[in-house]
Amino acid sequence: MSVKTPWAILFCRFQDATRTHLPIKAFHDLFTISGRGRQNIVDYFHDNSHGHLDLDNNTLFGWIDLPMRSVDYTGSGANFQGRVDFVSRVRQAARAAGVPLQDYYNVYISTDPAVDTYGLTTGVVMTLRGSDTSPTIIAHEMGHGFGLAHSRAEGVAGDYADQHDIMSAWSGPLGPVHTFRHPSIQPAGPGQSVAGPALSAANMLAKGWFDLPRLLEIEDCGFRDRIVLRPHLRTDLPGWLAVRIARRYIIEFRVDEGWDAGIPQACVRVLTIEGGASRVASPAPGSYTLLAGAAFAPDRTSTYPHLIRVAVASIDAAAREARIDVSLDCVDPPRPDLPPLPFPTPVLPHDVPLRWPRVEPSWPTPYPWELANLQAGCDEVIAAADTADDVVRRARERMAWQRVRDAADAALAKLDASCTPPEPRKREQE
Ligand SMILES: [Zn+2]
Repeated sequence: MSVKTPWAILFCRFQDATRTHLPIKAFHDLFTISGRGRQNIVDYFHDNSHGHLDLDNNTLFGWIDLPMRSVDYTGSGANFQGRVDFVSRVRQAARAAGVPLQDYYNVYISTDPAVDTYGLTTGVVMTLRGSDTSPTIIAHEMGHGFGLAHSRAEGVAGDYADQHDIMSAWSGPLGPVHTFRHPSIQPAGPGQSVAGPALSAANMLAKGWFDLPRLLEIEDCGFRDRIVLRPHLRTDLPGWLAVRIARRYIIEFRVDEGWDAGIPQACVRVLTIEGGASRVASPAPGSYTLLAGAAFAPDRTSTYPHLIRVAVASIDAAAREARIDVSLDCVDPPRPDLPPLPFPTPVLPHDVPLRWPRVEPSWPTPYPWELANLQAGCDEVIAAADTADDVVRRARERMAWQRVRDAADAALAKLDASCTPPEPRKREQE
């Protein structure tokens, strides 16, 4: 089922505008349904959410005159509050100009002249010119607008380390993400517009966008079988689009086509979700992909006792099939003495109905690593939210946290009716 998440694309001028910005009409095909089917932004979020996100009502607005000069802009990586305040100021100016912001999920702000590039859950700010008109960077910043964090890689410190994931664009410690020349929508001119890569299956799962009936969950101890995987965005093909083993390791198959046209070759990858963000595993030093004949077998640890092995038997890119052999051995049984699932009790306005969706069955006792991941995820939801409504909305988006819901329901039910709203706390992203 899709969720309507339209964006208002706001073209804004400072008082000292240079008037060198590309004309607004140049961006219709890139951002709205008029360009659908030609790998535009509407297509990107539809395809990379398995159809969960519906941006069909994206609308361009402008020009909106900002009551300030560009030199008075104070936001930066060091002055995060300046960035937050600027988005608020633009929203005010847009409302004053008659833009019905209440009808839109989020705002994309292109300024003349350029002052900054960043993505927050309250809005994306950048200037659409040159390489910044590329679907790659636009999708990355809008990804932040949907609450996605930067992706990471095992053994690499810091962000931007997964070259197969849009949330590492443009470039990181291992090099740039794998983009391709965008085929047809190039407002800035030929050669300047690149697109891809796709969103990793881990990020899709973390956001609750992955089509769960197409995910094979392997949890039975002693499991041994050969599984045929399809490319993770190919919902049009029958079969599994990803595998998750023992609730931790996510296996995806990527083929150099579509949004992944820029990846070097078809490959299998192993991912985890750490603190709500996608992290690609390293099967061997310096390697983040599995080709035919390669295997992934992580060491067991005190917090993750299972013995797992994933071996790629074959990859047939033309047939869009990867055959993988999976084994799972549970060395220790799940411990019944684990503490109850923690959930930070948010302080929320009392007049907002707090009902969490109950669409999943109850879950068994979580493992310790799950507790850590869930805790980090919950903290992130609470930290990013402004209101109780926002908490619920964000939590719904993060459908991967089904296990949180019962605990959350209990915690929220106990809220003191006299409590006060929280001070919004925002996490910096750029
Ligand atoms: Zn970013």
